[in-house]
This record gives sequence, C-alpha cells and structure tokens, in this order.
Amino acid sequence: MSPTPAQSRRLRCPACGAEYEVAISRAACQCGSPLDLVSELQPLPPSLAGRPFGLARYAEAIALAPWALERAYLGAGMTPLLPMGQGAFVKCDFISPTGSFKDRGAAAVTAVALELGAVEVVVDSSGNAAAALAAHAVHAGLKATVVVPEGAPEAKLAQAQAYGAEIVSAPGPRERAAEVAKELSGRRGCYYAGHAFSPFFLEGTKSWAFEVFEQLGAVPGAVVMPVGNGSLLLGVFAGFAHLAATGAASRLPRLVAVQSEGCAPLAGRPALLTGHSLYTDGIAISKPVRMRAILDAIAATGGEVVVVSDAEVKDARLSLASSGLWVEPTAAAAWAGLPHLSDGQGPVVVNLGGAGFKRP
Ligand SMILES: [Zn+2]
Repeated sequence: MSPTPAQSRRLRCPACGAEYEVAISRAACQCGSPLDLVSELQPLPPSLAGRPFGLARYAEAIALAPWALERAYLGAGMTPLLPMGQGAFVKCDFISPTGSFKDRGAAAVTAVALELGAVEVVVDSSGNAAAALAAHAVHAGLKATVVVPEGAPEAKLAQAQAYGAEIVSAPGPRERAAEVAKELSGRRGCYYAGHAFSPFFLEGTKSWAFEVFEQLGAVPGAVVMPVGNGSLLLGVFAGFAHLAATGAASRLPRLVAVQSEGCAPLAGRPALLTGHSLYTDGIAISKPVRMRAILDAIAATGGEVVVVSDAEVKDARLSLASSGLWVEPTAAAAWAGLPHLSDGQGPVVVNLGGAGFKRP
C-alpha cells in the first residue's frame, strides 16, 4: 500500500536545503526562511462527480488527511466562475464563508493543526487571513490568537474578534507581528499558521487551480490576481503544476501578478507609502518572504507583473459593482490589471478574492 500524503511529507528549506519533519513547533527554518512542503501526491481521477466540495474533493493532490479536511470544512471552495465577455472570466472567491479567498488556506492550516494535535492556532495578520483563520479554528474546536500590526483596518479585526479570536497587538514595523506570533507559537499545543510562512496554506490555495480546471474544462490562457505575499499565486502555480506533472494538463497558464503603484516590489519598485495607508491594503507588502519563489513561478509560466494606479482600481471597483459584483479594493486591482496584459490569449480568469463589505 502506498503511504498516505500525511505519512510521506517533509519540510525543506529553499534557501539552505535543511530538511525537517512536519511538527507542531516547526514554523520556519533555523536560517529564518519559510519552508517548502515536499510530498508524494497522486493524480486526480478523471471524474470527480459525486465528491463533496471543499479541499477533500482533491484529496489525492493535497498533502493533508481527509478526516482533518472534513473537520475543518466551513464551506470554502467551488466558488462561481462567471463569463464576462471577450474570453474573460471572473472567479468569485469573495463568495466564501468569511468573504475572502484566504478561507481556502485557513481550511488547510486548520486541518494540519488538527492532525498535529494542536489546541490553538496563532497567526499574524492585519486583515482577511485573521478573520479566515479565526472562523475555521473556532469551527474545528481550536482557540485562535491573532497578532495584529499597527494600523490594521478595524472592520477586519472586528470580524476576527466576533469569531472569538484573542487579539494581541504588536506595535512597530509589520515584521514585528510575525516575530511575536512565532514567539507565542512556542506555547504548548500552539501551531503557527501565518499565511506567508506556512506551506500548508498553499496546499489550500491549490484547490483554486483544480476548480478552475474542472469548471472551464481546460487550462486557462492566463490567470490574473493581486499579489502581496503570494499565498494565492504560489498555490495556483502548485495546483496547475500538479495537473501538468500527472498528465491531466499539457501546459501551465500564464500567471499575471497585479500590484499597486504604491507598493510593487515584484516590479522592482520600492514602497512609496507605509502599508496601512494604501487603498489596496491586502497587497501592501513591501518585502514578500517568498519573493524568489513568486518571481520564479511567474517566469516559469511566461507570465508578467502588472502595476495599476489607485484611480484604475477605483474605476474597476465601480465597473464590477455595475455588473452586480461588489468587491474590496485589493480584489478590484486584478480587474484593473486585465487591460494591461501583454498577451490576451484566452480564456483569461481574473480572481476576485475579497468581498466589498471588507472595505465599505
Ligand atoms: Zn534554511
């Protein structure tokens, strides 16, 4: 019998090559780098008819135990894919239990916390990841602690608090919140679930690729998404790479990362403003910890980085709303990026990853 994904997985450092067992206390490499997950996965069957929605639908291709995925399931995934004309589609990830695509990753990190016997998860986040993790943790019977950097939007914190998360504030630069969260995760039974660091978060966002492949019946020509820490882009890349490696697909979609004029490190531009003052707060990340991997994934697919202005994002948000789609500014940035594509070969799928109520 072949080992289950949970038995065959290990953690590996992309910076220094060190390897580790998956363990409750292993948040990052000793050298400080985030860790990658190495696992033996199986092809997905040709038909998934009759399977449940959510991550368990793709059990062969996600390195988490099905029982844990089922316990952490709160309704994330299988979001609508709507045609918008001229070969463009929007993937409506803002229709998700807590209103953002982060629910996919939160379901996955909650599942691994359950597998490891954790009683608490801790995360550093100023927004959607905090709400997503808090909801999934409480649903699965775990305590959630959220470490919040200075200037985090109040509406988003109120959401995490409503689910019952304990809020710990960490004044100082954004990086300080991650340090405090990692320190707290040294507590007994506590798992660090930061979406920029945990490779299991990317196991969750892989589901985006599998769903689009199912819904479209093909690999899209391009995928357009806002990128901050890259926790969607890297999962989408891993998902399509899995489909190609197992023979289900013959190519990869071009990955198009959209960033804001105010903060576009992927385009080699320094941040102009402090993070929390930016209109597109969800992608105001001046130093993504997995920047090398993000740039490599874009290059491997022949993709590109597109930079948009706040004025373009505002127009895109209004334009989407006039089609009945109300999303937050960060999500609208992806739609604003669409006209900038250097190669419009379709179909093109644009992710709308956060609901309008997040930033009324
Ligand atoms: Zn290392």
